[in-house]
Amino acid sequence: MSRLLLATGNAKKLVELQRILDAALGTGRIELVGLGDFPDYPEVPETGLSFGENALIKARAGVARTGLPTVADDSGLAVDALNGMPGVFSARWSGGGGDQANLDLVLAQISDVPDEHRGGAFVCAAALVLPGGMEHLVEGRQRGRILRAGRGTGGFGYDPIFLGEGQDRTNAELGAGEKDAISHRGKAFRDLAKVIAQKL
Ligand code: IMP
Repeated sequence: MSRLLLATGNAKKLVELQRILDAALGTGRIELVGLGDFPDYPEVPETGLSFGENALIKARAGVARTGLPTVADDSGLAVDALNGMPGVFSARWSGGGGDQANLDLVLAQISDVPDEHRGGAFVCAAALVLPGGMEHLVEGRQRGRILRAGRGTGGFGYDPIFLGEGQDRTNAELGAGEKDAISHRGKAFRDLAKVIAQKL
């Protein structure tokens, strides 16, 4: 069994990647560990201006700090009418006000934008970095449009105002498994699982 670090403190992401890896490679092939297993792990500043840069920064830091092969992801919402913002600033778009404040700010910023121009995408970059220096970066996207008010209580972040292409429910109205099947993170992690299968 190979050990792999997912450089996140988010337990939900650990469960999601473990589930995808088990489905892709068979149970028991990869033991996934998170940052919770490394109590002295330092804060890694996400200084990149793209999701890919930030994913690589986090994955490289994981290898440098632990010596383990490391996966890291970075994700957010890119709104067409805001030239791709909030983008890498999604988590702190309202200056630290939290999910509801972030979502309310985006709605206010595009309140005058007509329905036909309210497109956007959830984007996730996921990087695998190996101790030997090999780096592999993938990107997953879910296209959709931004509603005028939130619907649903599931998911997190901007899920209530995002209606995925071909969907009649917002991401916050989908079950976790349904969201994984079409989400930016689900796509990126499934793509990366193929590379992990070859390299580990
Ligand atoms: P992180 O990559 O997990 O740090 O996510 C950055 C931010 O992007 C989150 O705090 C959310 O605001 C937003 N985000 C990322 N993925 C999703 C998602 O699946 N649904 C809703 N919001 C998301």
